[in-house]
Amino acid sequence: MDRRHFLRWIGKGILGTSGYWLCARGVAWGKSAFEYALEGQNLIAAKRFAEARDVLKEAVRLDPKSDWAHGLLGRAHHGLGQKAEAVAAFREAVRINPADTYSRMMIEIITQKPIRRLKKPVRPLTPLEKKARAEEEAMLSQLTPEGGLAYQVKRVVIDPGHGGFDSGAVGPTGLKEKDVTLDLAQSVKQKISEKGRIKCFLTRTGDYYIPLSDRTVIANQYQADLFVSIHINANENRKAHGCETYYCSEKASSKEAARVAAFENAVLKYDEPFKKRPGYINIEEILFNFERRLYWEESGKFARTFQNRFEQALPFKSRGVHSANFFVLRRAKMPSILLETGFISNHDEEAALKKASIRDEIVAAVIRGLLNGRG
Ligand SMILES: [Zn+2]
Repeated sequence: MDRRHFLRWIGKGILGTSGYWLCARGVAWGKSAFEYALEGQNLIAAKRFAEARDVLKEAVRLDPKSDWAHGLLGRAHHGLGQKAEAVAAFREAVRINPADTYSRMMIEIITQKPIRRLKKPVRPLTPLEKKARAEEEAMLSQLTPEGGLAYQVKRVVIDPGHGGFDSGAVGPTGLKEKDVTLDLAQSVKQKISEKGRIKCFLTRTGDYYIPLSDRTVIANQYQADLFVSIHINANENRKAHGCETYYCSEKASSKEAARVAAFENAVLKYDEPFKKRPGYINIEEILFNFERRLYWEESGKFARTFQNRFEQALPFKSRGVHSANFFVLRRAKMPSILLETGFISNHDEEAALKKASIRDEIVAAVIRGLLNGRG
């Protein structure tokens, strides 16, 4: 359900409830679908998934056309580890409302799956196991942090920029940013997966639109250690060329960095009508403000190490590391970078970006940047 639908739903609920109070005072009416759905939502927030599933089943029974209720039911099933049921509920939500990007995203997440969470041992560890664990931890702590990251990267989410109605930048002969980014991201995923050490996921696997904020939600859902958004730059000055790496910061590191961020954020006008309403306060956002500075600091360190390795294998000139307020990176709960792999507005680079051999070189450079050849 998009936010407009959600508001309409809330509106319906309020009308429904006041109507109930006006005409049926004292009469023992059952709950409405809206009330069940709202209860389900609160139960999900409290991680009481089994109870949430039961009330949400009631909500969809009473109002089978509510994509909101189906989406919530999907989340409850997902919380219970019931993947097939979750996917079925999310599919129903998307069928009712094709603009329900959250459910679409959840389908992507569950069907791309293999997220294996570490399970807590069911029995207490034996003294020998405890010793082995302690030794392993001591050994790991002695490893030099790689790429400015104090841990080994195990899961990467790659985000092919743009998609669907949002083409991104378009080159002089019509090459679209959204197509190049998808192709590059898919190749990066395939190459990383072949190496087998790191799990790699994509935020989109086809030509459709995902709001900027949902892209990091995906990375957070996958519990990724690293988020990489792939883009192709553009500039009115057709001579501009080369690749650069960005990380998120409140203030842009230069005018050019601010311009690039403004272009990449442009699509926001379609995403956030609800949040732009006057008086809207997002508590979660305020709390997250404290946390994200830490991720941004780490991102800066990683961006510099990444670019050092990346530029050694690049078919294009390196334009270094910069920072700006990229909305797609803002909410990531992990180090995250945004790559601008060449200028689609530059004739030579647009021509190069059409070639499979050059794309292969870019993919190899990205992987070198990410894995330092240690895949
Ligand atoms: Zn872009």
